Amino acid sequence: MLFVFSAPSGSGKTTIVKEILKQYPEFRFSISATSRQKRDIETDRKDYFFINKDEFEKKIENGEFVEYELIYDNNYYGTLKSQVDECIKDGHCMVFDMDVKGALSIKRIYGEKSLLIFVKPPSREVLIERLKNRKTETEETLKKRIARIDFEMAKISEFDYVVNNDNLQTAVEEAKKIINKYYTKEQK
Ligand code: 5GP
Repeated sequence: MLFVFSAPSGSGKTTIVKEILKQYPEFRFSISATSRQKRDIETDRKDYFFINKDEFEKKIENGEFVEYELIYDNNYYGTLKSQVDECIKDGHCMVFDMDVKGALSIKRIYGEKSLLIFVKPPSREVLIERLKNRKTETEETLKKRIARIDFEMAKISEFDYVVNNDNLQTAVEEAKKIINKYYTKEQK
């Protein structure tokens, strides 16, 4: 089963995904490739494969991605075929953290094997506040992230489930309930 978490930037989706991976250590995380700059708190090959634009474009040419998107105008993000294929071959569940378009591509490709979970922030205002407070963005990239919020929120009805992230603990519990409908410990 492929559990795909999506949400506008700043919704707390990555925190929820990390918590889920802690609670289901048998699950694998799909480590995406990206051409954006690494943040100080991130680790290469763990959070993302950080590669430059040229390398990314070579991988596109070689057909190495299941899906990829150019997000916020100039940064590539993509799911590597090798990651997903290996996981499916080994029979493990996989967790994805990706944008809304990427999630819908996964559904198109893997159909019922995939489950799309939208992490909904309490409000647009809270989301913008969170984005500002985490201080990872420049004025310009912050503007781009804010501009994309409405586009991503508009796709909510295309998701299988919505998890409200008003409170992290409750959101993780909601996500676990959904996962447990599709997953039993006998699986990996
Ligand atoms: P961030 O720069 O905040 O890490 O990520 C920006 C957006 O790209 C987030 O919505 C994140 O979930 C998404 N993203 C991360 N990896 C992938 C991927 O492999 N494919 C797609 N389509 N989006 C991704």
